[in-house]
Amino acid sequence: MDFPKQYDVIVIGGGHAGTEAALAAARAGSQTLLLTHNIETVGVMSCNPAIGGIGKSHLVKEIDALGGAMATATDYAGIQWRVLNSRKGPAVRATRAQADRALYKAAIRHIVEHQENLEVFSQAADDLILEGDQVVGAVTQTGIRIRAKAVVLTAGTFLGGKIHVGMQNYSGGRMGDAPSNSLSERLRELPFNVGRLKTGTPARIDARSVDFSKMIEQPGDEKPAVMSYMGSVEQHPEQVSCYITNTSEETHDIIRNNLDKSPMFAGEIEGIGPRYCPSIEDKVTRFADKNSHQIFVEPEGLTTYELYPNGISTSLPFDVQVQFIRTMKGFENAHITRPGYAIEYDYFNPQDLKHSLETKYIANLFFAGQINGTTGYEEAGAQGLLAGLNAARKAQGQETWYPRRDEAYIGVLVDDLITMGTLEPYRMFTSRAEHRLLLREDNADARLTETGRQLGLVDDARWAAFSAKQDAIAAEQARLRTTFIQPKTEQAAVLSEKLPQPLKKEFSLADLLKRPELTYSDIEQAAAPDAPLSIDAAEQVEIAAKYEGYISRQQEEIESMRRHENTKLPETLDLDNVGGLSNEVKQKLKQVQPETLAQASRIQGVTPAAISMLYIHIKKHN
Ligand code: FAD
Repeated sequence: MDFPKQYDVIVIGGGHAGTEAALAAARAGSQTLLLTHNIETVGVMSCNPAIGGIGKSHLVKEIDALGGAMATATDYAGIQWRVLNSRKGPAVRATRAQADRALYKAAIRHIVEHQENLEVFSQAADDLILEGDQVVGAVTQTGIRIRAKAVVLTAGTFLGGKIHVGMQNYSGGRMGDAPSNSLSERLRELPFNVGRLKTGTPARIDARSVDFSKMIEQPGDEKPAVMSYMGSVEQHPEQVSCYITNTSEETHDIIRNNLDKSPMFAGEIEGIGPRYCPSIEDKVTRFADKNSHQIFVEPEGLTTYELYPNGISTSLPFDVQVQFIRTMKGFENAHITRPGYAIEYDYFNPQDLKHSLETKYIANLFFAGQINGTTGYEEAGAQGLLAGLNAARKAQGQETWYPRRDEAYIGVLVDDLITMGTLEPYRMFTSRAEHRLLLREDNADARLTETGRQLGLVDDARWAAFSAKQDAIAAEQARLRTTFIQPKTEQAAVLSEKLPQPLKKEFSLADLLKRPELTYSDIEQAAAPDAPLSIDAAEQVEIAAKYEGYISRQQEEIESMRRHENTKLPETLDLDNVGGLSNEVKQKLKQVQPETLAQASRIQGVTPAAISMLYIHIKKHN
């Protein structure tokens, strides 16, 4: 049976990648269908109800700058806000919000349902419709055939999903949801490289059975942050605290004594788990010298007693989970509402993708999210936005787009995946970016909004707010450059209080702001602008002044690297004709098929000498 309508883009899966993909495709002007198992699970957080953190908030703010939903939903759902690394430099500062799971899901559903050009259909996709090596639609579990010019697949942990609790295992996409086995089998018939990964989640605990007086309270920041550039603190719901407890030697003994019942240690699980989010079994064995691990006890929401004990993800049997959890301070009488479990699932080697996230083997088919070997909502959302946008652009006959590594963490994420592939769940960190000072969370709007506007992703309201902020920053910077403070004036006296020595000659406000002792607020106190700047705009003025030297040095480096970034490797390039390349280098280049010289240089084992041989060859033959 044929569906009554044909689409430009079908997005399969309504998780974090799928919702951003569908919204981006629709914002870019394509008639879009979000085809997902169950409309009620759109925007569900499978694991920890939190958004942001180191490296991850950067992605969320970039998604936001490109008009996406994740930051706005977080503003409506964030019940505890913290800025991490707040005492360190701006490059590594990161915003994290504990989210009310129900409010987050409701916010995403609201945004999806109010998006023009976007419709939702609640059914599983069991197959893709292919014509030659091109995708032209999807077939649902009841045999409904839906045609589209492009398809984005974002099936998360559902493809061939296998859940483990102790030595018991069964098929499932996540606890309570059916897996996508038919689609998994179908995709395995296509020429993709499929592997298995695993991830896990802790048991949930009823707050009424917990003694919080034995734990350390961790309130949020006094002044909660905001995730979206269009958001405000007024959107936040009631704020609550998290708590901290610890595992002990007794906890570790119980875990060690039961490792033979852990599917991971008994060899039942073949997939590799996330390095930076290890299970408690993993932590106890890998860091055997540590006799305690910190556990963050986080509320799941304002209208539920369920708690998420962050740091004890496990696939041990239920009775062992009860035993070891009850050894922790405050959890002596803990009632478990859901057991922890591990899940294994199919993922595809991302080296089989182009930077646009289109697959190399099937035209107009895009992959995004967990299926590309990543872990985390933010990594999934970022890929989803890019894949949805590019699916829309291909459907409209336009060139695809992706940000460079020096423009966005989204660029770093995609380039890392495509160039190096991944053998374990990939998580974003600020350390993965070479131009951290330029890719700050506070300037994501300045980096991406203008491009987002050109791509059709940014609406009028966001564009107006962005333009007003940039105008205010530029006007203030001009004022600082042209306003001078004379010695022995009242203004000089105000500023001299903060300086080791009083001002002895004339200085511009711009030069004064560069001095480490003075902040923008000191400058404002001495010589205020006609209209005060917003906090965000003032922060930009201050960072630009304080880090001017470093920023311009990074920009120079980028300019020289861009030469390589712009040097495309011709599709007709025959590597066997390039003199001097070793067989190993040739093999790696053939496997990854880099699009530019810069991408080639990032492949492990491709030496700088090989890059210059390639460069000379390309220049000679073009
Ligand atoms: P998902 O959020 O899984 O969404 C997939 C969507 O696709 C679902 O809506 C599903 O119903 C739909 N779908 C699947 N197949 C089909 C089909 N055939 N037809 C129609 N719809 C389909 N991340 C961390 O960062 N840290 C962790 O500790 C962590 N632990 C996790 C533990 C567990 C048990 C699970 C399940 C996930 C965990 N994650 C963790 C991962 C995190 O949940 C994912 O990274 C994130 O949800 C990925 O988003 P996604 O959109 O790719 O997939």
